[in-house]
Amino acid sequence: MACLQKLRQDVATLESLFPKEHERFQVLSASVDEITVQFINPQNKPIVVTANVLENYPHVAPIWFSECDDSTVTAILQSLTEAEAPCYILPQTHELISRLCSYYNVTIPTELISIGPVGDERDEGMESDDDYILMEEETTSRKDAGDEEDLSAEQKAVFARLNHVQREQHLTGAAAGSVTATDRLMKELKDIYRSDHFKNGVYSVELVMDSLYEWHVKLKKVDPDSSLAHDMKMMIRKESQDYLLFHFLFKDTFPFEPPFVRLVSPTITNGFVLGGGAICMELLTRQGWSSAYSIESLILQIAATLVKGKARINFSVKGQYTLARAQRAFSLLVQTHAKSGCTGKAKVPMFWLIVLITWSVFSWNFYLSLRQYRVHRDTAKRPDEVSEIMSEEEYRKARTYRLDKHRFSFVHSIYSQLELMAILIFCLPQILWNKSGAFNLKFGYTSEIAQTITFISLASVIEYLINMPWELYDTFVIEEQHGFNKQTLGFFLKDKTKKMVVSLFVMAPIVAAVVYIVERGGPYFFFYTWIFLSLVIFLLMTVYPEFIAPLFDKYVPLPESELKQKIEKLAKSLNFPLKKLLVVHGSKRSAHSNAYLYGFWNNKCIVLYDTLFGEEMRAKLKENGCFSTEKEKSFDKGDEEMRESKLGMQDNEVLAVLGHELGHWALWHIAVHIVFIEMNLLLLLVIFAKFYRATSLFHAFGFYDSKPTIIGFMIVFQYITAPYNELSSFLLTIMTRHLEFAADRFSEKLGYGYVLRKALIKIGKDNLVLPIDDPLYSMFNHSHPSVLERITALEKAK
Ligand SMILES: [Zn+2]
Repeated sequence: MACLQKLRQDVATLESLFPKEHERFQVLSASVDEITVQFINPQNKPIVVTANVLENYPHVAPIWFSECDDSTVTAILQSLTEAEAPCYILPQTHELISRLCSYYNVTIPTELISIGPVGDERDEGMESDDDYILMEEETTSRKDAGDEEDLSAEQKAVFARLNHVQREQHLTGAAAGSVTATDRLMKELKDIYRSDHFKNGVYSVELVMDSLYEWHVKLKKVDPDSSLAHDMKMMIRKESQDYLLFHFLFKDTFPFEPPFVRLVSPTITNGFVLGGGAICMELLTRQGWSSAYSIESLILQIAATLVKGKARINFSVKGQYTLARAQRAFSLLVQTHAKSGCTGKAKVPMFWLIVLITWSVFSWNFYLSLRQYRVHRDTAKRPDEVSEIMSEEEYRKARTYRLDKHRFSFVHSIYSQLELMAILIFCLPQILWNKSGAFNLKFGYTSEIAQTITFISLASVIEYLINMPWELYDTFVIEEQHGFNKQTLGFFLKDKTKKMVVSLFVMAPIVAAVVYIVERGGPYFFFYTWIFLSLVIFLLMTVYPEFIAPLFDKYVPLPESELKQKIEKLAKSLNFPLKKLLVVHGSKRSAHSNAYLYGFWNNKCIVLYDTLFGEEMRAKLKENGCFSTEKEKSFDKGDEEMRESKLGMQDNEVLAVLGHELGHWALWHIAVHIVFIEMNLLLLLVIFAKFYRATSLFHAFGFYDSKPTIIGFMIVFQYITAPYNELSSFLLTIMTRHLEFAADRFSEKLGYGYVLRKALIKIGKDNLVLPIDDPLYSMFNHSHPSVLERITALEKAK
């Protein structure tokens, strides 16, 4: 009874696989007694075949017959009828179809794979399978014997050996492959032996260890005009190898799945050859492959692809590619070719949490800015307490500048927030990540680190382009109108581009190292990353002012002068290890003035902006030819305007400002800052370690099958910890304000109290600072107290 039930199932399977509309094979009628099917040959002539199922099925094969009088068809049917038991209907139908397809030289229907002889019959626990295949094999070789006449003796020997090997394998139960695949590969090999390309020596084929499933293909001729053909001639001279060696690996699912093809030797660059020798061709992926492709067409297609991709032989690399590397490269290719599942899949709750976080942070900052804007807008008349530091006219100027700045930043921040939403909704990082992978594959790079570097490079360029219009407007419309812009358009573009490129060169190795540490660091990777980043911070603090800043601005020693002597004297009195005293040409960029210290231990340097100086010193700088080599000519423009509007400082005012800066040093403020930053970094890395492998985070960004470290960093540092970052920057602001007052008091104790007040007022005026603030905005945003607050504090200290 069990047999009858199985037969019913099998008949139903056949009916569903090959309905009457099927283009090649149709089940016309089917019952447990009789099955009538129809095979459509290339001439569109249907061959009707009937199988009578007997009482003792499956111990006796059904009787197969047809009206068709073709002798081969009759032979096939007879061999089915005479097959040894057990003879199940599915494998018999399988054989019928594959034989007929092979005979008429048509593609085997893909449905055939689901009734493949290997598989469901074996579940029955019967030894039928091997018997069945053996029977199949014998008939195959019998059939093959008939159409091998045109082959050479050597080729016939190949087939004889193949048949022999397979028979041996079947007898020992070590059968490899499937009947479909074996039949098809036999046919392919025969077709190749008969093909003109093969006969003319375009390529040759060898079976590896007499296995039909593993081929070595030697490509000997490519497009003679190509550089690859030229390289191959050179290879004959240099290494006496006159071919490109490929390895073809077939599975028993062939021809329904493509073979795995890789280059073994020589080493080739470009030409869509991936790092491990795998080949980047749509044709070789499951999506791009069709069972209708012949192996010869595949070989010729590979040759064309190599030439199209401008493949060159790399003579400097010796040795061969390995199978493992090729497979890894190829699986990466398939991954990146696979469509992004981002927009199609439902958003996870984590996605909405991240959206909520970004909107909260945005709303809070927008609210603060709005408060500040209202204060500036509503205080049209100069308040009395400001009268001592600003004239009516100066106040009016500063206010219009601020209001313009506010309006611009409102528009910009709304735009940025919407951009952020687009990034989240459309999973742009995921798309960019895949594009980076695909881009790298073209050059044979497959590692995550390489993909990360491509990713951050592309991201920087995109960000640069997106920000450009906003920066242009800010610099050449707003800053220009208020007299701050000292740059020409050419200088501006050159400067920004240079900045982007330099920061990429600095960032790339750091990011690569961090990814490496995260991947290999084990459970305490966050600690090692922290140590590494701390070292990098120290290194950059040393390297930046010496080697990187001079790429953007010109630094010259302060000319011999009374001011210089006074500064040196001041430094000496404080035991400040002053090594260098530099002036930076800040007026080229902007008229906002400043001064700073840098360097470690006994190697300190003071940098003053030239915008701090009065006319006398600027004339001296110019006289010494310090800044006259500027091509941009913008110095003259800046200088001209500065004479009209800027007040400049007297020597003792510069000293008072320096007194403040030296106060930061003497009171260990720099060290306090570093400790704060280091602690904050460690905490962030601990948070990162907790979250960076969380699947839901990556799903929220559309990463379903990979978790790149750089993306983890981006998600955790930019989105997850956003509220914490707001808090820590608030704490930093409070601390910095505190330290600023302390530094002012230090300068005052040096005896510069009065001059410092004057200097602060001048700096405030020169920078068009509007000395009125919303208290809440100021608390969260102003790391430096306002001029008014500082003056009041200085007066109190007196
Ligand atoms: Zn300060």
